[in-house]
Amino acid sequence: MSPDYFVSVRAAERITSKRVKKVSQWRNGAILVHFKDGKINVVDPLDFQRDFVDFRQQQSRDILLSRITPTLYACKSAAHEKVYSVVIEEERLRCNCKDWEIQLEEGLQRPCCKHGYAVLQKLGCRSLQDFLQMPV
Ligand SMILES: [Zn+2]
Repeated sequence: MSPDYFVSVRAAERITSKRVKKVSQWRNGAILVHFKDGKINVVDPLDFQRDFVDFRQQQSRDILLSRITPTLYACKSAAHEKVYSVVIEEERLRCNCKDWEIQLEEGLQRPCCKHGYAVLQKLGCRSLQDFLQMPV
């Protein structure tokens, strides 16, 4: 899993609730957050991983779902016209949005975007982990 995808200025601002100038990474994996006020803090990489999920789960609340087949959902956000499709596969939920594609390119084995989280919620799962443990 590539940690770089989780780590961004915007993620650091959500985590710390402060204005962030930049984020840098040490070779040992520690993440340094440089604030606009000149202060620097070390932030646990796990906090970034958690933010990645929390942020998408929050965004998933605005998505309207229609079940097309038992394994295919059409997803539309209230604000946009574009419709995305989420396909339920054995080990993951595949989507055709940019976020999902970028995650795949970044090396994530099981990408999950806000559309995927919306479908997971519909299925009664809190996480992709829950989904993978569902009895078939
Ligand atoms: Zn998506």
